[in-house]
Amino acid sequence: MDLPDNAILAQGLTKTYAATKTTPEMRALKGIDLAIPRGSIFGLLGPNGAGKSTFINILAGLVRKSSGQVSIWDRDIDARPRDARAAIGVVPQEIAADPFFTPRESLEVAAGMYAVPKAERRTDELLAALGLADKADAYVRQLSGGMKRRLMVAKAMVHNPPILILDEPTAGVDVELRRQLWSYVVELNRRGVTIVLTTHYLEEAQELCDRIAIVSRGEVVACEPTETLLARMDIRNVLVTPSEPLSEPPKLAGFETRQLKGGAFSVSYRTGHSSVEQVLAAIRAAGVSIKDIATEDPDLEDVFVSLTSKTEAAA
Ligand code: ADP
Ligand code: MG
Repeated sequence: MDLPDNAILAQGLTKTYAATKTTPEMRALKGIDLAIPRGSIFGLLGPNGAGKSTFINILAGLVRKSSGQVSIWDRDIDARPRDARAAIGVVPQEIAADPFFTPRESLEVAAGMYAVPKAERRTDELLAALGLADKADAYVRQLSGGMKRRLMVAKAMVHNPPILILDEPTAGVDVELRRQLWSYVVELNRRGVTIVLTTHYLEEAQELCDRIAIVSRGEVVACEPTETLLARMDIRNVLVTPSEPLSEPPKLAGFETRQLKGGAFSVSYRTGHSSVEQVLAAIRAAGVSIKDIATEDPDLEDVFVSLTSKTEAAA
């Protein structure tokens, strides 16, 4: 059997949500090209509103794309929608467990929907793997939020798909549960399942994923092995309060500056290329005397902005 090189391949994928009476038209995806290698744990990292769920929901068949091509396990989602969908299990961002079924019944119903023959069902195995064996026959409304999420993961795996997709899997999940979930996911990956997860936490992506794509405002601004990407995220900010408040930030050779409140400004630099020492020297060279300085790690937004502006500069 020939296995595809890419578990998922998207080319020129766009999605525009039509305007409604209360909301303007929204270009949620602006031409996504993405190759998710088979066997990887792939992270889609981006701030809220970046378009991550839109992408996942297109794969799941819940949102209709506007243009572009997508194949899942080499099956085009337009030409072979059922086959394409059979290759993925999706755990949506919003957990929607049916309150009237027990976990066991939920899994049986889900398996039935995928036409998994009774003899091939893995209900007990899945319940055990996700730590739900002792809740197998409880009503779903008696389960905690974390248990419901694990039940959603089990449901996504009933048809034994080669790809598991988790949309913001740790939202509202406690630390202990997160560990359990991750060990299950890593174990699945060892057995050959390609994992795709979305998150807005860099730490989460960094810990788990061997490859990370960063999405920002409907575009992929970076897609690299985790280590390469982290090496590029070496931005730091120096916050400077000058002795005399400035109405605009000084122009510094080799550094980006930004105006802050109260006549202060910030300077960003890359730890791999320069030092705080050099930043201070550049400030002095610009004739600014310093009252106070502080350093700050960038948040993800800073990193996205910097990656995005670099993309634009290169284009
Ligand atoms: P993420 O999952 O990265 O937070 P989403 O894909 O949920 O991002 O949203 C991307 C953008 O599309 C956001 O601006 C969001 O408000 C908008 N959006 C998402 N779903 C819909 C929808 N059903 N109708 C209109 N706009 C939507
Ligand atoms: Mg989302």
